[in-house]
Amino acid sequence: MDKIKDRICREIDSMTDDLFGISDFLLANPETAYKEFKARDYLSSFLEEKGFTVEKEVGGVETSFFARPAGCSQTRPTVALLAEYDALPEIGHACGHNMIAAASLGAAIVLRRILGDRAGGMVLVGTPAEEGGGGKVLLAEAGIFENIDAAMMFHPSSTNIPGKGMLGRIKFKVEFFGRTAHAAGSPDQGINALDALILAYSSINAFRQHLRPDGRIHGVITDGGVLPNIIPDYAAGLFYVRGASRSYRDELLERVRKCCEGAALAMGCEFKLEIFQPTIDPMKRNLALEGAFTQNMKELEIGIDEDNGRRGSSDMGNLSHYLPSIHPWLAIAGPEVAGHTTGFRDATVTSRGRKTLLDAAKMLAMTGWDFLNSSELRERVKEDFLR
Ligand SMILES: [Zn+2]
Ligand SMILES: [Zn+2]
Repeated sequence: MDKIKDRICREIDSMTDDLFGISDFLLANPETAYKEFKARDYLSSFLEEKGFTVEKEVGGVETSFFARPAGCSQTRPTVALLAEYDALPEIGHACGHNMIAAASLGAAIVLRRILGDRAGGMVLVGTPAEEGGGGKVLLAEAGIFENIDAAMMFHPSSTNIPGKGMLGRIKFKVEFFGRTAHAAGSPDQGINALDALILAYSSINAFRQHLRPDGRIHGVITDGGVLPNIIPDYAAGLFYVRGASRSYRDELLERVRKCCEGAALAMGCEFKLEIFQPTIDPMKRNLALEGAFTQNMKELEIGIDEDNGRRGSSDMGNLSHYLPSIHPWLAIAGPEVAGHTTGFRDATVTSRGRKTLLDAAKMLAMTGWDFLNSSELRERVKEDFLR
């Protein structure tokens, strides 16, 4: 390992207590999308103590922040480390974003020390509301990433993999409007909105047999009437469609719309389909930057697992269409521990989780260093992005 990378690793190791402290604070204070005020303030103060200037509430997103090394004006190229810190309702940090924030802060603080006068080429962006919110989309739309050349973060997982595809996603609500009537006395005068929703659900189910391997449709019924003896005049459900490309994602939405239209026609209902913004784009991978991360995994002797084909979605997908981005996954538990469970949350602070946090911080700092120091790497990253 070269001298600088060796120093990065030693500096991260010297911050062990600090980084575990950040992860533990967030774990003990879980806040859901767009309500991460404690996290924003805690992480901002921490960075200020370590020589950063922090602007809170950037891009019109209250719980975001933007940190740059104090006394340095921004230079190009600039690499951004991203901190996620939102939790899930009821099960807290079951997606492990407490670790994401801690690793990115560690990497930024160490890079600042290593870069010295050249630290103006590194920033840390606090990106709220990954879970269902899409904070990165709002920040990107507000121009926060305009003068930045690459973005990186890591995500805890059950596999070690420098990158994989992520699915585009559209969240939407479907509503059916019918007419109430006494279900026994005057059923002929009613129009049953619940039946329409169930017909739509059944059509969607039938269509699911014909999805491509990357297609996903899933939903729940949120409103299905009040009492058995009142014909429901209102029924509603929440759904997601996902696909590995924007076009397939959008095509699935149109097929679901047809299922709803057909059901409404059959039952004589009105229906409405409302899309929640922002929609999530599939990940545009940058293999050149992932390659640099892979090399650093090898430096730390972290074996690379096979892609298990499991796919989710992230607002990092949207960001990856604005600028070269990587979203490597690092294991904190075995495959028996699924994400979005309390088991996964607890794994963020086991000895394995702890080690992964330090490794992640090291590899992010090392890859940031590589990007800023190699014009040849930057050229390949750019080429890959423009492909
Ligand atoms: Zn999640
Ligand atoms: Zn997550």
